[in-house]
Amino acid sequence: MDGNTPITELKGVGGKTQELFGKLDIRTVGELLEAWPRDYEVFKEPLKIREAVSGEVCSVRAAVAGVAGERRIRKLSILNVNVVDESGSLQLTFYNMPFLKKTLRPGSFYIFRGPVRAKGTLMGMEQPKIFSPEEYRRLTDRLIPRYALTKGLTNQAIQKYVKQALSFYKFEPEYYEDSLLEEYRLIPCREAVETVHFPNDYDSLSRARRRLVFDEFFSFLFLMRSSQRLNRELPNNHRMFETADTVRFLEKLPFPLTKAQDKVWRELREDLSGPSCMNRLIQGDVGSGKTIVAVLALLMTAANGYQGALMAPTEVLAVQHFETIQNYVTEYGLIFRPVLLVGSMTAREKRAAYEEIETGTANLVIGTHALIQEKVRYRSLGLAVTDEQHRFGVRQRELLAGKGENPHILVMSATPIPRTLAIILYGDLHLSVIDELPANRLPIKNCVVNTAYRPKAYQFIAGQVAQGRQVYVICPQVEGDGDDAEGGLPLENVVDYTEKLKNALPANIQVAYLHGKMRPGDKNRIMDQFAAHAIDVLVSTTVIEVGINVPNATVMMVENAERFGLAQLHQLRGRVGRGEHQSFCIFISADEKAASMERLQILNKSNDGFLIASEDLKLRGPGELLGIRQSGEFSFRIGDIYADAGLLKQASEAVDRLLSTDPDLERPEHARLKAHLEKAADSSVDFRSI
Ligand code: ADP
Ligand code: MG
Repeated sequence: MDGNTPITELKGVGGKTQELFGKLDIRTVGELLEAWPRDYEVFKEPLKIREAVSGEVCSVRAAVAGVAGERRIRKLSILNVNVVDESGSLQLTFYNMPFLKKTLRPGSFYIFRGPVRAKGTLMGMEQPKIFSPEEYRRLTDRLIPRYALTKGLTNQAIQKYVKQALSFYKFEPEYYEDSLLEEYRLIPCREAVETVHFPNDYDSLSRARRRLVFDEFFSFLFLMRSSQRLNRELPNNHRMFETADTVRFLEKLPFPLTKAQDKVWRELREDLSGPSCMNRLIQGDVGSGKTIVAVLALLMTAANGYQGALMAPTEVLAVQHFETIQNYVTEYGLIFRPVLLVGSMTAREKRAAYEEIETGTANLVIGTHALIQEKVRYRSLGLAVTDEQHRFGVRQRELLAGKGENPHILVMSATPIPRTLAIILYGDLHLSVIDELPANRLPIKNCVVNTAYRPKAYQFIAGQVAQGRQVYVICPQVEGDGDDAEGGLPLENVVDYTEKLKNALPANIQVAYLHGKMRPGDKNRIMDQFAAHAIDVLVSTTVIEVGINVPNATVMMVENAERFGLAQLHQLRGRVGRGEHQSFCIFISADEKAASMERLQILNKSNDGFLIASEDLKLRGPGELLGIRQSGEFSFRIGDIYADAGLLKQASEAVDRLLSTDPDLERPEHARLKAHLEKAADSSVDFRSI
């Protein structure tokens, strides 16, 4: 059994389970073992009822005092059970578990584990899990992995399959040399994989994590640094001159460039007309106006008779760029002949686009990773731009660059990183920073609240819509896949929430939803309708996190905000406050624990992406490092450039040393590493599509 063995080879995985795993993007045993736990649950010594804390998941040891009659609300059966100990009493509520009437024995002691809520003076616990004292003792103080779930596949089932897979798995032999393992205090790869699924304690978990993160950084950096095209300083094959086109465009734009935009635009002009090929990163916080600067560079490219390409990580974003630029063309008479190329186009539409690109009829190509497919041949690619670069792997950047004769390269990112890390992560890219927001922006007003605030929030939303504004609502899940892992807090989902909002808001308000599982064509249609204001309230997953620009939207409400990394919430917040209207962010947390609220309060205090990321880090405990993901930070799965900055430097040092002694990995002692890195390179092409 190895990484490519289909999941169905595991005992107990039949067609139905296979399908469920498919929903989690797990098809092979390798993918199962790489589906690391989202976090870990620790079963502490059970508490007395008096010690239980409202808003937290607790374990309580108590005896059954009485089972009240079962109630029914439509299809839902509700059972209340009173339990007691010497310190007090607690009311348990069970949904759709009527059989407990018979199985819970009055007078017997059990351990009940679930979220505690104070209802007035009464303490309650919802849908707790039930353990016998012996059962619970066996679990106490162990770290129980919690996996991403889907309805029909429980956490326990996944644990069982992972255990089975680990026992039959033929691990790749260790690929680092002993000296490297020793120098960086890394545990063997096999031990790391086993431990990350079933750690004995935090110390071993953190050693396992350290190894996995090192691996991730090492292969990323190796790939990037060994790529000639991305690193060497090349002569300028596409020397450009300034023409009147950009000057006229700037004159017609309804706003002046900010000082920072103007400075970056000058840097780009100097690169494009200078002696060497441009290799530049524009870093600028969300809403700082990176797009217009890239459009100027693309315009200069077109005016000089070359083609430009603009690659975005999602179709929705690519289509948005295409439409913005088309509007510029009609409004300002720009010389662009743009063509769109995205996966959801029909074969015939794609063929037409390929033709325009190959003949040079199109002088600007906008799209997703469809731009780097083999079939696409450019006539004279002079400038390749990637938007939201951190979403792309090194290979994709390289493939795009390879579509021309050393075209100029421009990448854009909203991920704020300090200069020292930027040098490691981006190699020889020159850095331009847009460190100022357009002047017409009002600061966004934020609030962090609990779920009791919802009725007020809905009223507020209705009020904003009545004033002609639009609203985003974000939920963590697509469909009602049930709760989070056992004992977790309720999770909102896009589909049900949309219904809920339609009922709660006045009937004339148009509510629609958008999520990653929809067909790309449908996503584009909904996004178009939202941009055209045919939709007032858009309920969505984090698909809209990157780059979407609808300046009329003024409210961003995030449900289950506790589930998102702060950097991600900051990105989401960047979707509003893009126009002249006052904008608002409402972060709703289902988790009322002080620590969770405190973490979210950081967003309240600051609008500075870098500060937010570093403050977030200070608050995270050891178990959380594997938990809440700083999603959006490059294509790393668990490595966190902020938290693991030290490790990133070490991996960088190790890669440099390797490249200076054996750049092509030809020595026999590097054979296994070579094979491993080739495999890693292939999987890095695997595009993170949303
Ligand atoms: P991001 O840097 O997040 O990609 P965008 O490029 O999408 O930001 O710009 C956000 C919005 O700000 C757009 O609607 C854009 O037209 C507008 N914008 C850009 N530059 C300026 C400026 N100098 N003054 C006013 N508005 C601007
Ligand atoms: Mg953008």
